[in-house]
Amino acid sequence: MNIILLGPPGAGKGTQAQRLVERHGMRQLSTGDMLRAAVKAGTPVGLQAKAVMERGELVSDAIVSALIGEELDTMGPAAGAIFDGYPRTAAQAEALDGILAARGRKLGHVIELDVDEDALVARITGRFTCATCGKGYHDSFEQPRAPGVCDKCGGTEFKRRPDDNEETVRTRLAEYRAKTAPILPIYEARGIVTRVNGMAEMDHVTAAIERILAKELIP
Ligand code: AMP
Repeated sequence: MNIILLGPPGAGKGTQAQRLVERHGMRQLSTGDMLRAAVKAGTPVGLQAKAVMERGELVSDAIVSALIGEELDTMGPAAGAIFDGYPRTAAQAEALDGILAARGRKLGHVIELDVDEDALVARITGRFTCATCGKGYHDSFEQPRAPGVCDKCGGTEFKRRPDDNEETVRTRLAEYRAKTAPILPIYEARGIVTRVNGMAEMDHVTAAIERILAKELIP
């Protein structure tokens, strides 16, 4: 099964994708994570993307669609894909159709995480992750149980994304409104969109997603 998690930055796409990965062995394909890895490794893609990402603008459609195709090619045909942060433009949505068709895959669901934009800035600017295992935390909503020690792996190093500052977040939200929200009707016309309240507690959001996918997921 192949699904898209759609929603503005901070809607919880990454968190929910990780949960589906842990519970159902699906693969998370996050173009943001792939680009951050490319920036860190100093690859040609990373060098091109770095400044664009720091401004909160969108990296070129060709680059991100190529990354998605390459990643899908590393997966066995039975593994389900969760697209997180892709597609973000109409051109990417069209590219994804071709990428999936060429690999005999079909898009099953588009899950839209519906959130209140005012809450997003606070959500995003407070978030940080364990540098060792990637577990997510938040200054106000979820601190590690023992201060400075990761609940999951015991790591003591934490990091914040350079683009999680207020100015960049505002640009990222504007990009979402202008370029990503308009792709929803493409999928609505196919009858595959389900809206989930992304302001609910994380476990409730997960339960709502599980209900949508229940028929197809292997327990
Ligand atoms: P994310 O981790 O999804 O919030 O993405 C972080 C940044 O990476 C975005 O603000 C963009 O600059 C870039 N990016 C990630 N995914 C895409 C995409 N599908 N299209 C264009 N740019 C992207």
